[in-house]
Amino acid sequence: MSEFDLIGRYFAALGPERPDVALGVGDDCALLEIPAGQALAVSIDTLSAGVHFFPDCDPEHIGHKSLAVGLSDLAAMGAEPAWATLALTLPAADEDWIRAFATGFERLASAHGMRLVGGDTTRGPLSVAVQVHGLVPTGTAIRRSGARPGDAVFVSGTLGDAGLALRRMLAGESVAPELRRRLECPEPRVELGQRLRGVASAMIDLSDGLAGDLGHILRASAVGAVLELDRLPLAPQLAELVAATDDWSLPLASGDDYELCFCVPPAHIPNVERLAEALALPLTRVGWIRASAGLDLRRPDGGRLTRPARGYDHFPVADDRAD
Ligand code: ADP
Ligand code: MG
Repeated sequence: MSEFDLIGRYFAALGPERPDVALGVGDDCALLEIPAGQALAVSIDTLSAGVHFFPDCDPEHIGHKSLAVGLSDLAAMGAEPAWATLALTLPAADEDWIRAFATGFERLASAHGMRLVGGDTTRGPLSVAVQVHGLVPTGTAIRRSGARPGDAVFVSGTLGDAGLALRRMLAGESVAPELRRRLECPEPRVELGQRLRGVASAMIDLSDGLAGDLGHILRASAVGAVLELDRLPLAPQLAELVAATDDWSLPLASGDDYELCFCVPPAHIPNVERLAEALALPLTRVGWIRASAGLDLRRPDGGRLTRPARGYDHFPVADDRAD
């Protein structure tokens, strides 16, 4: 099967047709029409075999996750998904692998009304780069820089599940399918992100752990925060593990949660409570923003926890910043 046959069969008509795609896969460029009054939100992520997923990972899950991480970035800005491009580097034209990959990608793209409009296909070590394009009404995107003292800090879902799955897989232990899904098939909080426009003052998606990712909001907003550890939303196995070991590194500093962390001015807190109910998604208040810099991890007895080693860093440096 030639490169062009592959593209034609699996990637030429992936996701729903959209009226704003004047020209999709097949020419030198796609032509996309951005509606008046909307800003284009763009983000790209690469997943490499052996770094971001196990080389023998189910290709359907790789297809899902390679798009999910980008959708999570769109969610974190409050943007609505529109278009994607896909750069696929494959060691061989294994049609079964490609079909399964496209199935996982397509299912998630369709669920979010997203059309694949172009890409690139090359031979080399397995790697998948997906660029996502979303739309957000001009001036309403939720940045990292908007947190103000007195805002409440919320997180969606539960923390540390993907990290626990990864830890167990690396140890060669068996992992329950639901836990493994949290690592390999994360559900990006796309609708939540959009519904937080006009409600949240700042937002980030959790890809490297709450402590580090909230740290990005704190630096961008020039504020500090207090996190109350006993409020962190933990699935039962995580809660047990933390209670037994007093090791907070999974909920605070493990990657791949793809939940949202957002700040909310006090007047808007009731909106968040209503949203949690409407979306049937736990949205938990875990702390608050204060003027003085730094992240204070507070135990139930009032004591402080030293921040666990930071989330995954592809290019670690010796002098870890104190944030
Ligand atoms: P060019 O050589 O002009 O860059 P290519 O031969 O790389 O074009 O690609 C041909 C067409 O197929 C282009 O429209 C490109 O966007 C699309 N394409 C290539 N690979 C993919 C892919 N993996 N997914 C989606 N579209 C793809
Ligand atoms: Mg090309």
